[in-house]
Amino acid sequence: MTARVLVVDDILANVKLLEARLTAEYFDVLTAVSGQDALDMCDRSHVDIVLLDVMMPGLDGFETCRRLKANPKTAHIPVVMVTALDQPADRVQGLEAGADDFLTKPVNDIALLTRVKSLVRLKVLTDELRSRALSSRQIGMNSEGIAMPDGQGGRVLLVDDRASSYERMRKVLAKHHTVHIEPNPQEALFAAADQEFDLAIVSLSLMDFDGLRLCSQLRSLERTRHLPVLILVEPEENARLLRGLDLGVNDYLVRPIDTNEMLARVATQVRRKRYSDILRESVEQTMEMAITDALTGLYNRRYLEGHLSTLVDQATNRGRPLSLLLTDIDFFKKVNDTYGHDAGDDVLREFGERLRRSVRGIDMACRFGGEEFVLVMPDTDKAYAMLIAERIRQRVEAEPIPVAGGRQHLGVTISVGVATVESAEDTPETLMKRADLALYEAKRQGRNRVVADAA
Ligand code: GH3
Ligand code: MG
Ligand code: MG
Repeated sequence: MTARVLVVDDILANVKLLEARLTAEYFDVLTAVSGQDALDMCDRSHVDIVLLDVMMPGLDGFETCRRLKANPKTAHIPVVMVTALDQPADRVQGLEAGADDFLTKPVNDIALLTRVKSLVRLKVLTDELRSRALSSRQIGMNSEGIAMPDGQGGRVLLVDDRASSYERMRKVLAKHHTVHIEPNPQEALFAAADQEFDLAIVSLSLMDFDGLRLCSQLRSLERTRHLPVLILVEPEENARLLRGLDLGVNDYLVRPIDTNEMLARVATQVRRKRYSDILRESVEQTMEMAITDALTGLYNRRYLEGHLSTLVDQATNRGRPLSLLLTDIDFFKKVNDTYGHDAGDDVLREFGERLRRSVRGIDMACRFGGEEFVLVMPDTDKAYAMLIAERIRQRVEAEPIPVAGGRQHLGVTISVGVATVESAEDTPETLMKRADLALYEAKRQGRNRVVADAA
C-alpha cells in the first residue's frame, strides 16, 4: 500500500534522511522546511500523512499540527510528531495539539514503517468513507469537509484483571469519560458486541488469557469491527506490540502508564471513532436517500426499477405468482388547484401512510411519481391482489384526509390497475404496461374503482 508522505523539518539533513528511507519503501515523498510550507502543501495538494518535526523556528510542530487539525479540509490527515527527546511532556502537548502518533529521533526504522503503514491503512479507509459522504452534499456538511468532533465524554471499555492497575486508570479516565471495567475477556467481548463503546483498552498482561486474542476477536466481529482498540504493553513486549499493530490495534501505551499520555491518546481515539461514525452514518443516509422518496418515505421509482426485474425473475423461475398494483389519485390536480400545493402534499403523505399500513413486509410500496404509486406483491395471485387493492381503495374513500394542519378534511378517491405475472415471458415492462392499461380502464369507467388486467 503506497501513500504520499509529507516530511517536515527545518534541518535539510533530517528531511533527506527520512525521505531516503521512505522512498526505499516506495512511498511517494514530499518535503517542507517550515510549518507554514507544510500547511500550504496540505491545503493545496493531496497528502496522506505528515511527519512533523516539533522544534522549528516560526510555527513550531505543535502549532502547525493544531492548525492542520483546526482546518476541516486537512483535519483528517494523520500527523506523526517527530521529537528530539522522548519527553512525556512533549508527547502530551503533541497529542493535545491533535497529533496521531509520535516518533523519537533518531528514528528507528521499524517504528517509522509500522506507524506510517498503520496510519496509512486507517487513512485509506477514512478517505473512502469521506469521498462517499462528501458526494452526498448532506445538510451540515459542505464540500470543505467535516469538522473533527470532540474527544471527551467517550464510552470506554477497559479490559484488565489487575485491580491495582484498573483502579488507578479508572480514577484518571472517569474524570473525562464513562469507564466500564471488565476483568473477564469473554465477558468483555459480549459487552463490546452488546453495548455502544467508543474505545476498548485491552491489557496484554491478563492472567489466563492472551489479550491479543481478544483484539483479533474484536476485529473480526461485525458489531465491533469499527471499535478502536488500544493495548497496554510491558516495556519488553516489542514483538507482541508489533503483532498487535498487525492485527489492526489502533494504539498502545507502555506500562508504567503516564496518565496524561493516556488521557491524550484516549481522546484521540474517541475523536477518530466519532469522526468515522459521522462519515459512516452519512454514507448510509445517502444510500437511503438514493432509494427513498423524500415526501412519503416509500421507495422511489429508481429503486422499483432496479428491483422489479429481480422479483419478476424470481416469480417466473419458481413458478410463483406475483401481482402489481398501480394506483392513481382521482382528480388530484383539483386538490392542488383548490386547496394549494401544500394540501396536495398532505394528501400524498397520508395516502403513502395508508398504503404502507395495508401491506406485508415482503411487499414493496413505491411512489412511482406525482400521485401514482406502485405496490409489488410477491407470492400473490390475481384474486388476492384484487382483494388487497379493493381494501386500499375503501380505506382511502372511507376516511377523509386531513390537510392544513387538520383544519380541513378532503374526501379523496383512487383508481387502481392490477396486473399479475402470467407466463415466463413476462417482464417488468409488460407487467407495468398491463397495469397501466387496467388503470386507464378504471379511470374510463368513472374512477374510484379497481380493474384487473385483461390477460
Ligand atoms: P385523474 O383522475 O385523471 O388522475 O386526474 P388528476 O388530476 O389526478 O391527474 P393529472 O395527472 O392531470 O394531475 C396530477 C397532478 O398531480 C398534477 C401535478 O401538479 C400534481 N402533482 C404531481 N406531483 C406532485 C407533488 O409532489 N405534490 C403535489 N402537491 N402535487 C403534485
Ligand atoms: Mg390522478
Ligand atoms: Mg396521474
